[in-house]
Amino acid sequence: MATEIRLRVLGSGSSGNASLVSSGGTTLLVEAGLSGRELVRRIRLAGQRPEDIDAVLISHEHGDHCRGALSFAAPRGAPIACSAGTWRCVRREGRAPTPPWVELRPRAATRIGAVTVTPFATPHDAQESLGFRIESDGAAMVHVTDFGHLDEEIEAAVEGVDLLLIESNYDERSLFDSHYPPRIRQRIASRYGHFSNGALALYLRRRLPRSVRTVVLAHLSENTNTPELALETARQALDAGGRTDVRLLAANRRELTEEVLAVSPSAARRAFRARRFIARSLFDPGAVPVPAKAGRPA
Ligand SMILES: [Zn+2]
Ligand SMILES: [Zn+2]
Repeated sequence: MATEIRLRVLGSGSSGNASLVSSGGTTLLVEAGLSGRELVRRIRLAGQRPEDIDAVLISHEHGDHCRGALSFAAPRGAPIACSAGTWRCVRREGRAPTPPWVELRPRAATRIGAVTVTPFATPHDAQESLGFRIESDGAAMVHVTDFGHLDEEIEAAVEGVDLLLIESNYDERSLFDSHYPPRIRQRIASRYGHFSNGALALYLRRRLPRSVRTVVLAHLSENTNTPELALETARQALDAGGRTDVRLLAANRRELTEEVLAVSPSAARRAFRARRFIARSLFDPGAVPVPAKAGRPA
């Protein structure tokens, strides 16, 4: 039985997003915002075979999430799982044949092989955009980007998960100082635009559930953010909130991010006990039972 979910970000940023999520022999491509050819290349770089993708999950119809969806999925017959609103837009852009469609609805759990996907609605200027809670035998993670504010739906979805991939799109000052036209700036900063480093910091400091042990910062803007800035802002917030236990990574658009795991709470407890035992053994040799030897008092 699989007690872990493996996440590998193939690329993430305002120009294109894609991740691999695998558990128990099932592999999902979450977002297909790179060209079909580039998706194939990065899937292979991650040590997987494109033909082994069981389904393609798409959060919404913006090009940085669905650019390669049809050209990747159609020739392989891989189903695309997304909302009805997203599917209408994605399908319109493609030429026949279209791959099979699995309809995702907010709060309706859908089983795909060994994993269960429970989508939730996100506040974004798109047709029925979604975030994904993905579970497998007790292990749980959330994959959520492209939202203007963090509402109750998102907060509820993150409850109890071990791994959180979340948007840290822009630095407020950099956006203010940017050369974007005011209309674009307003769109990004609106309640249906994107999530900033500062807004994420507030959440990480005050409201991040105790269960979350790894946070992956994603969908960083190329023009109004840097991985260093996003990581520093998030780290300070976590430290201020007493969450020095949380591991923090930033995904980027050019390269694959290292593989990270979501493990079930029971597996995490077992690993914690094992680590504590090893630590005790190292620092307190007396705690390790030593078999009695001949000539030495037991
Ligand atoms: Zn979007
Ligand atoms: Zn996007």
